[in-house]
Parts: sequence; structure tokens; C-alpha cells
Amino acid sequence: MSSAASNPSSSTSKPMSLKRNSDDIGWDYGVLVNPNNLNLIKCKLCGQEVSAGIYRLKLHIAGIRGQVKPCRKSSEEDKEKCKKAIDDSKKDKKARYAEQQEVRDAVDLVGAPDADEDTTAAEVYRSTRSTM
Ligand SMILES: [Zn+2]
Repeated sequence: MSSAASNPSSSTSKPMSLKRNSDDIGWDYGVLVNPNNLNLIKCKLCGQEVSAGIYRLKLHIAGIRGQVKPCRKSSEEDKEKCKKAIDDSKKDKKARYAEQQEVRDAVDLVGAPDADEDTTAAEVYRSTRSTM
């Protein structure tokens, strides 16, 4: 595998870049047609223009029918890569949701003893005052 496209250029201020600042695998297969329309992407393989973003381009490369015409020039390897990327992005969302649930549980556990300490502190304060 050669990665000639991964060129670490730090010129983020270039307005005419035809590639979005993203490591999405879809950009291996597509280029922006018009820098003012970030949703119009042209397939590098067959030249088909996809008008609804990089996710659709991946569907196009993967040959998943329904929302977009499948690519006629993508190889089996290209299809697998894009299918995997689509799968991964779904898993990502699920993982993030699970993480949020865990954080919520942790907050509950921490919150319970805190409330206990509060009443204890108030009682200690009251008893200190009455002895004075
Ligand atoms: Zn194509």
C-alpha cells in the first residue's frame, strides 16, 4: 500500500483546497467539485458526482444500492474498505453512547456519599455552635 496522498502540509488557510480537512476514507475516493459546496463530491474512479456528502460517496464506492448509484469502477478491495468505514462509523456512535451511560453511572455513585457528608457537616457545625 502506498500512501502518496498523506502529505503533512500545514497550510490550513488555503481556500482552494479541494479536500476537506478530514481523515475519512471517503476522501481517498472523492474530491470536492466546488469549494463553495462541500456536499458535492466527485468520485475519483468513475467521475460520478454525489451531491449529499462523503457518506454517500462511500455508499457509492461500496456499491450499496438505494440512495446512490453504485460505482462501476471500484474494485472489491475498495468496496470492502468503504463498507468497513460505514460500519465503523455506526459502531463509533454506539460506543460513544455507551460511554455516556457509564459516565452517568459514575456521577450517580459519586453523588450519593457527597449528600451524606453534607448532613454530617451541618450537624458537626450545629453541635460546635451549641458548645460555644
Ligand atoms: Zn464511482
